[in-house]
Amino acid sequence: MRLAQSVLKSQERNLGYGEFCVPRCLTRLYFGPAGVPHAAKRRSTIEGVRTVRELGLDAMEIEFVRGVRMSETMAQKVREEAQNLGIVLTVHAPYYINLNSDDPNKVEASKERIYQSAKIGFIAGAWSVVFHPGYYGKRSSEETYRRIRDAVRDVVERLKSEGIDIWLRPETMGGLAEFGSLEEVVKLSQDLDLSILPCIDFAHIHARSRGGYNSYEELRQLMEYIERELGKDALHSMHIHVSGIRYGDRGEIEHLNLEESDLNYKAVIKVLKEFNVAGVVISESPNLEEDAILLKKLYEET
Ligand SMILES: [Zn+2]
Repeated sequence: MRLAQSVLKSQERNLGYGEFCVPRCLTRLYFGPAGVPHAAKRRSTIEGVRTVRELGLDAMEIEFVRGVRMSETMAQKVREEAQNLGIVLTVHAPYYINLNSDDPNKVEASKERIYQSAKIGFIAGAWSVVFHPGYYGKRSSEETYRRIRDAVRDVVERLKSEGIDIWLRPETMGGLAEFGSLEEVVKLSQDLDLSILPCIDFAHIHARSRGGYNSYEELRQLMEYIERELGKDALHSMHIHVSGIRYGDRGEIEHLNLEESDLNYKAVIKVLKEFNVAGVVISESPNLEEDAILLKKLYEET
């Protein structure tokens, strides 16, 4: 329970239900890779957590992107290992989610995938679960918003009724065909309840605006917007994705390593520091842990 002792102290609110304690606010920033680090000797979550620790990092996102393939028993083992090593876990829900599908079965299956990700993540002691909400298709952004909001509300209510207490995070998306502008995910948090906050993906926001949100001043405005719309607590509970990115007229094309892209990660780190942000920074660069280490070092030296 070393993690519990270290992260639940002072202002870290423990809203734990039953034996699972999920600290909703963190006191500092934790850095780690999106998934098992490349350096891990085996491709298992437990080995990933151990490698993260060896690399001097302190967070890891469990990638359920191709399906929630972890038993409850394994999730408990992951939780013990992560707590013993002081690693904060987050979860990425499957990519195959479209809460705005024309097919009602696909909407239900999407809700189920988010629910399963949250449930297994919660048992694994994860702090937050991020998901891609869906696509506009032929619908207007307003209608898409209403349909996605209602579907997310169903998931929130189901999780609450089962005592599953974990952050649910719709992600800011990089492609223009995808629901998930900064304003849309902020509005979801405002219209639903406090178990929803955005996952802020700096690369996606940069790509979606085709080059914007990249100067220190623009990034300051982004942070001010979040603070103004969602309150100061939102800055003490941020789930963040960072990577390099290539983009075109339709937004995101592919993720890149930070040094290969124009993303102004130095300004990102500067504003995170300036706004005293706490939470988790996940590197989604192809080199995973290398950029997580780069960001953590930069943050510590700034
Ligand atoms: Zn994502």
